[in-house]
Amino acid sequence: MLCSKCRRPAIIYQRYSGLHLCRNHFVADFQAKAKRAIRTHRWLSPGDSIAVASSGGKDSAALLHFLHGLTCERRDLRLYAITIDEGISGYRDPAIAAGIAETLGVEHHIFSFREAFGTTVDEIVRLRGDSLSCSYCGVLRRRLLNTAARSLGANRLALGMNLDDEAQSVLMNTLRGDAPRLTRGDTQRAGLIQRIKPFMYIPEREVALYAYLHLEGFLAGSCPYAHNALRADVRNLLNDYAWRHPSTRHSLVRLGEELSSIGTGTGSEPRFCPECGETCGETCRSCQILAEISRDDE
Ligand code: SF4
Repeated sequence: MLCSKCRRPAIIYQRYSGLHLCRNHFVADFQAKAKRAIRTHRWLSPGDSIAVASSGGKDSAALLHFLHGLTCERRDLRLYAITIDEGISGYRDPAIAAGIAETLGVEHHIFSFREAFGTTVDEIVRLRGDSLSCSYCGVLRRRLLNTAARSLGANRLALGMNLDDEAQSVLMNTLRGDAPRLTRGDTQRAGLIQRIKPFMYIPEREVALYAYLHLEGFLAGSCPYAHNALRADVRNLLNDYAWRHPSTRHSLVRLGEELSSIGTGTGSEPRFCPECGETCGETCRSCQILAEISRDDE
């Protein structure tokens, strides 16, 4: 197949656009989409410090490469990579993320569950059983990412979520009937470092291709607790449906944005946990989890 734009050999076919693209046109299209997302959401301003959540996987490596290219000649923007070590033996290896950051010449910092919370996901699983691994891990990782970014002086936290992840989140919230989350809006909440997701309109396979074209040595294998992630079912369901209806993921993300715009500006007063001082909802889930674990440990 030849590129729809220049007739060079194509490396990808985009089913949703009907275009075959060569390497150069794929990279140009990819970067244009990510830049458009940043412009549309006004995610970058002069003086920003951006912490990139960097797991060592393909998505975050692609994000670090893209943001490094965007910011490396800007003296008014600062970029660093942060890796959260949840303590999952045989899976999480912060040295991989460190190597990717070093290849790009980006400052890299590691923050661990052990240091921050005195425990690890492996220990939580030993104490509380396997089935809650992902809910505990997700809550604590979000909190640590926020405090880690803040401790570095960052005012943006860049996440590698892609179109597939975003569409799955909208569908998951819909299937759970979670109207508050769907209509929460993206008004900046006090105490939370602003999250930015430059790849939120780009399909997962394109993010992976961009990563493979520019970097190597990603985290291999999958987390031993991945079977507990609620997302897995929704991913399979959506992949199957989107194969027959290629614009489904884009439609879901658009729907999520429209619903979230209903809630923009209508959020209640920010609440801070009396235990840890972090921003939270009705109850601070991270402190609840840590209290449960320490009770089990006694
Ligand atoms: Fe954490 Fe679950 Fe993801 Fe593993 S699969 S890293 S336990 S959220």
